[in-house]
Amino acid sequence: MAESWPPESNTRALSPAALAVSGADTRSLLFRRGRAYLGMMVELFTEDEIERYSRHILLKEVGGVGQAKLRDASVLVVGAGGLGSPLLLYLAAAGVGRIGLIDDDSVELSNLQRQIVHTTAAIGTRKAESAAATARALNPLVRIEPHARRLEADNAPALIEDYDIICDGSDNFATRFLVADACFLARRTLVSAAVLRFEGQLSVFKPHADLAGPCYRCLYPEPPPAGLVPSCSEAGVLGAVTGVMGTLQATEVLKEILGIGEGLSGRVLTWDALAARMRTVRLRRDPACRLCGPGAEIRDLTEHTRAAAAGDQAVVCAG
Ligand SMILES: [Zn+2]
Repeated sequence: MAESWPPESNTRALSPAALAVSGADTRSLLFRRGRAYLGMMVELFTEDEIERYSRHILLKEVGGVGQAKLRDASVLVVGAGGLGSPLLLYLAAAGVGRIGLIDDDSVELSNLQRQIVHTTAAIGTRKAESAAATARALNPLVRIEPHARRLEADNAPALIEDYDIICDGSDNFATRFLVADACFLARRTLVSAAVLRFEGQLSVFKPHADLAGPCYRCLYPEPPPAGLVPSCSEAGVLGAVTGVMGTLQATEVLKEILGIGEGLSGRVLTWDALAARMRTVRLRRDPACRLCGPGAEIRDLTEHTRAAAAGDQAVVCAG
């Protein structure tokens, strides 16, 4: 019978680095990868960074080069709610160098069942500031840029152009279509997630990079009429479902930055929590799409200005 767990014979099979818990062990791992690698790491990172990100650096798909890509990347998170909470925390923890966060709401008691980036003490404060404070406490090495205002047609282009990747976790269709159109026009990758009740959905839209890839409007050509799709405040949502979907969203963002694995451009991932069933379905570009098709009509964001003026603010649940 083994005297320890894992049995010694098993631990010997693991790389010593896989068991690294101290800075000294991490340095020993880097040394094992060769003098040139060690030299590169010392040039790229401080000792604290090497230790903080050691579990990433251990992954051959990430390594020091990948960790440097994360540090050089910038991501905008739209919405500091149920999806934005785990998304922001995992991006900050992963060492994404610059993270913007836009949300014009304040923290309410009914948010806390799922919006875990906020605390009870933050009730009444601006969500962008509350979330930024939590993320900074988690990782002071990354730059968190809170924008405590609503994303609108006049401020969207400049804000979206300022980041490499945009993540949508917003709670209304007006913002979702605005983000989708602005991302397409600015040639930015959009990682979009949504949840309702016990179900979630996730996809990546980057027709500028994946030439056969669809845009958001290939999936949803137009916003639904106001009131047709219930909001979370009307229909409810299991808090943990927003956590899973926001975490999957963070994973896809990291994959996009690192350029690893199979992305979700051209596919939609859906998760039914009650059935414990996840699946992906193919999504093709729509030749009749008003945004990305050959006869595209949408050339700017003016229709969003008109929609906002008309008060068309249908709500969808996204946390
Ligand atoms: Zn399209």
